[in-house]
Formats: sequence, C-alpha cells, structure tokens
Amino acid sequence: MMKILLMSTPIGTLGSGAGGGIEFTITNVARDMQRRGHQVTVIAAAGSEVEGLRIETVAGAGQISVQTQTVNTPVILPPNSVLAKMWQRAREVQQDYDVIVNYAYDWLPFYLTYFFQTTVAHHVSMSFLTEAIDQAIAPIATQNPERLKFGSRAQAETFSFDASQCPVIYHGLPLEQYQFSATPKNQFIWLGRIAPEKALEDAVQVAQMTGIPLKIFGKLEDEQYWQNIQTNFPDAPIAYGGFLSDKGQLQRIIGESKALLMTPRWVEAFGNVVIESLACGTPVVTYDRGGPAEIIQGGQTGFVVEPDNISALVKAVGKIDQIERSRCRQVAETEFSLEVMGDRLEDWFKQLIF
Ligand code: UDP
Repeated sequence: MMKILLMSTPIGTLGSGAGGGIEFTITNVARDMQRRGHQVTVIAAAGSEVEGLRIETVAGAGQISVQTQTVNTPVILPPNSVLAKMWQRAREVQQDYDVIVNYAYDWLPFYLTYFFQTTVAHHVSMSFLTEAIDQAIAPIATQNPERLKFGSRAQAETFSFDASQCPVIYHGLPLEQYQFSATPKNQFIWLGRIAPEKALEDAVQVAQMTGIPLKIFGKLEDEQYWQNIQTNFPDAPIAYGGFLSDKGQLQRIIGESKALLMTPRWVEAFGNVVIESLACGTPVVTYDRGGPAEIIQGGQTGFVVEPDNISALVKAVGKIDQIERSRCRQVAETEFSLEVMGDRLEDWFKQLIF
C-alpha cells in the first residue's frame, strides 16, 4: 500500500470545470489508486468536492491561468495565494506520505521540488508556455527525469530542456461510464474550454463549409473570443450548449455525433476529450499538434491533418464514414482504460518510492 498525496490545480475547485481536463484526470487517478488499495489524499482549493475522495481543502486566492500569459510574463502569485497555502499544507503533512504528485502547471511547485523531504513528482499538464516556468522545471529534468511525467511525447518536446528521459503516460477513462454508439446523427461535436488556444473558430469554419451542424460544449472562459466567433461566422450552423457537468449527458451527445473536431492552436498536452470520444465510438478529426495526433491512428480512429489547414479538415470530415466506429471503442478499451493508465501510474509511483 502506498500513501499518495495529490496536489490539485490552483485554478478552480475540483468539480467546477474551471480547471479543464486536469480536474478530470486528478479525479480518475485518485479513484483508481484508491480502488487498488492505496491511501490517497487530495489537497485542493476550498469548495472542491468529489464523491468518494478524501479531499483536504485550502481557502485562498486562485492563480491566473498560465495560458493567458506570454513567454516573458514573470511569476505571479496573488495575495493570500491558494497555491502557496496548499504547498504550506503539503510541507506540514509530508511525513505522512510516500510521494507527493503535483498537478499544477505553475512555477511554485516545480521550484519547491528539492525543498521537500518526501519525493515530489509532477504531472506536467501543459506544453511550454513561459520561460520562468520552463526554468523551474529544467533542473528536475536533468537531476530526476523520472519525476516529470508528460501527457505526450510532442508536449515533452516543446520545452527548452531535454525531456527525452521523462516518462510519458497517456490518460485513461472509467469506460463503463461511456456507451458505444453505432448510429450517430448528421452532426459534429466540439468540446473544450472556449478560449483562443483551443481555436474553436476552425471547427466553426468546417461547419460553415460543410453545412453540417456543430454542437459546442465547454466552459466559456473568454467571452470576447466567443463573441468574435459569432460575429465572424454568423451563418455557421452552430449551437452552444454551455458546460455539461453531467458526464452521462456528455457521453450521450458525443455518441450522437459523426466526429469530434479538435483543432488546437497550442500543442495540446494530451486531450482528454479525444479518448472520451473514442470511448463512445466517435472518431476524431484533429491537427498534427500534440497529444491528439499521438492518440489518433489516421484512417483507423479518425484523421490527423496539417495544423491550421481548414480545407484539410473539410476533406477529412468528408471521409469520416470510412471509419469503423467499433474500432474507436476497441482502441479506447485496449489503450485508454482506467486500468491501463492505473497500471502505468502504479509502476511510476513504485519507481519513485522504492
Ligand atoms: N468537459 C465537460 N463538459 C463540457 C465540456 C468539456 O465535462 O461541456 C470536460 C471534458 O470531458 C474533458 C475536459 O472538460 O474531460 C477538457 O479536457 P481536455 O484535456 O480536453 O482539455 P483542457 O481543458 O485540459 O485543456
């Protein structure tokens, strides 16, 4: 039995959706490690609540999303920083744990790595964004590459340091919560935070050019950005359904779609929505940019096209009926189940501890 302390995101509360895919990943990891008999505690921002998990909450001011910052932005910590307080708490309780795993893509936890007696390891959830954070991660890559886990090889390669010795562990899903759907409607789906790095406008253009409706779901992170899309593409057959917190409803709508369009402008570290889509039997059309391109097997579970090339997307969606939906579900089962991820994570933890 291992004693594992998971340090949640300082962006939002667990269960709110504000933290994006990271919330989902932390919840899945915590549940699976508990199921395997390990003792898991999560330290998270006040208000976090997830059924069945032991969560210790800390009140304080949240961090600004790093993705809104530029390469040269200095490190920012607000007064009464929740991130700082979470790590203060971790320091106090560290002797009770075998390993501490950080899920925040932020300077402070990387910097603090060697100030702890208990091993601190990191789930690096984003690609290179700021030099200050890059420089806090770099010494770990040199001294203890095994302590840095990435979501995809492409993500690991975006940093200035050599991350080739660091583990890449793909995410997994509780597949029983996702039903296979053999017969979709004539619609596409787009899932994600509505923010520039996710480049929703590219998927909207596909809807406009093909006339096939696009259903959009996700947290509205950038209002102005969303307004601009609506102004620029007034005739596109799109409908925004808000953020769906009910995964049952989410998976049903994914299953009703011919394809998930994932068109990131940034190097997507992993892309949880890609495996959620496969689990429903829905193929994915995406750019050759980060995690999604490593997950999708072109011609088998979707299509991977040249980044930012709208006509390549349109061409790919035109061939979507060639994909066998059962193959998508099958790949989810063999490669992206919670069990597969849990086995790899357990090995990683053992390597870190023993
Ligand atoms: N999501 C959701 N409801 C929505 C849209 C998205 O619960 O209406 C979830 C989705 O299931 C996924 C997460 O938000 O788990 C987005 O994660 P991803 O890794 O794709 O992107 P990130 O936000 O981490 O950049």
